[in-house]
Amino acid sequence: MPMIIEQHWLTGITHLPSPNHDERSDPDDISLLVIHCISLPPGQFGGDYISQLFCNRLNPEDDAYFASIYQLKVSAHLLIRRDGTCVQYVPFDRRAWHAGVSHYQGRERCNDFSIGIELEGCEQTPYTEAQYQQLAAVIKTLLAAYPRLTQQHITGHSDIAPGRKTDPGATFDWNYLRGLLA
Ligand SMILES: [Zn+2]
Repeated sequence: MPMIIEQHWLTGITHLPSPNHDERSDPDDISLLVIHCISLPPGQFGGDYISQLFCNRLNPEDDAYFASIYQLKVSAHLLIRRDGTCVQYVPFDRRAWHAGVSHYQGRERCNDFSIGIELEGCEQTPYTEAQYQQLAAVIKTLLAAYPRLTQQHITGHSDIAPGRKTDPGATFDWNYLRGLLA
């Protein structure tokens, strides 16, 4: 199913605007895709906690782990859930807060020039077929909409923040994704 982007939002998916974004240093420079994974509580799928975190509404009393993260101001542009459904939190022309301290091919602060996509998951568990299919569809749509994005500039959080981040992990099948994009 072809996807459409209107005003930097994907149509036909859930939109949950996050307050955690700001202006890109160069609004025309959207030239990197960063793949992440997240699950809340860690290792548990389903539920609404990821969206609550990205919208600053996570209740620290809902899980012991949340006390350490509920005050973080973080976001990603997109979440792809286990069943392949998508949630967008930040329009693509705005800077989401997903990469943190990071560098890519000599450039720092990858949030400035990247789109962050979270897969609901954890590094020990294979991602679902529905997620790969949806991720490929999203990426094809983004490549068509933002000409400075290319298939050569798709990376993992672990690659731009080595030693600090390990997602999306060894279970993420980069070759499979590249096959779907070919
Ligand atoms: Zn990450």
